[in-house]
Amino acid sequence: MTDEAQPQSTRSLHRLIYFSRQRLADDPPPNEQVEAIVRASIRNNREVAVTGLLLVHDGWFIQALEGPMTAVLTTYRRIIEDPRHEAPVVINAAPAASREFADWNMCARSLSAADEAIIDALEMRDAFEPTRLNERSALRLLKAVRDIQDRTSLSAATR
Ligand code: FAD
Repeated sequence: MTDEAQPQSTRSLHRLIYFSRQRLADDPPPNEQVEAIVRASIRNNREVAVTGLLLVHDGWFIQALEGPMTAVLTTYRRIIEDPRHEAPVVINAAPAASREFADWNMCARSLSAADEAIIDALEMRDAFEPTRLNERSALRLLKAVRDIQDRTSLSAATR
């Protein structure tokens, strides 16, 4: 469903950012479990015009959800019931002027060693302690990850 198809009262753009502790089983492998989460997310989020980015790193999930307020909140309420993670903490939930992750149908990103070097260069190493994140630093971190993903896709496409 597009943003325009939503009733006016629920159409205003919202962004919710939270972090949680991974609680993935040993089997199947964690990357397969994350892939299953991403598949379900793409399927469900498209239906309700929710976009975002899921960062999977060092035992943590950090996720941004953007879209109509009701859709974002309904999605988040479903996510926090999921046994594959625990102790979710909302960093920020508020109206947003525009989508920062519009092209990211819930793309999950795990950081490689090269990505980590970029994060170091951006002096964002502290951001990987999610309990220290605030609205600004969380958004900055996720946007940096989005930009890394953009560069990676570009270099793969031009190789
Ligand atoms: P299916 O994917 O078909 O699953 C059916 C049921 O089984 C669900 O209740 C699901 O929770 C449960 N389930 C499936 N696999 C497992 C497993 N390996 N272990 C335990 N229970 C399992 N969903 C979204 O729609 N959008 C999101 O943006 C989103 N982000 C997520 C982020 C994180 C960090 C996590 C952990 C989950 C996320 N999910 C997201 C998944 C969400 O929690 C639900 O599992 C999903 O929305 C259910 O989709 P579905 O009804 O299509 O069910």
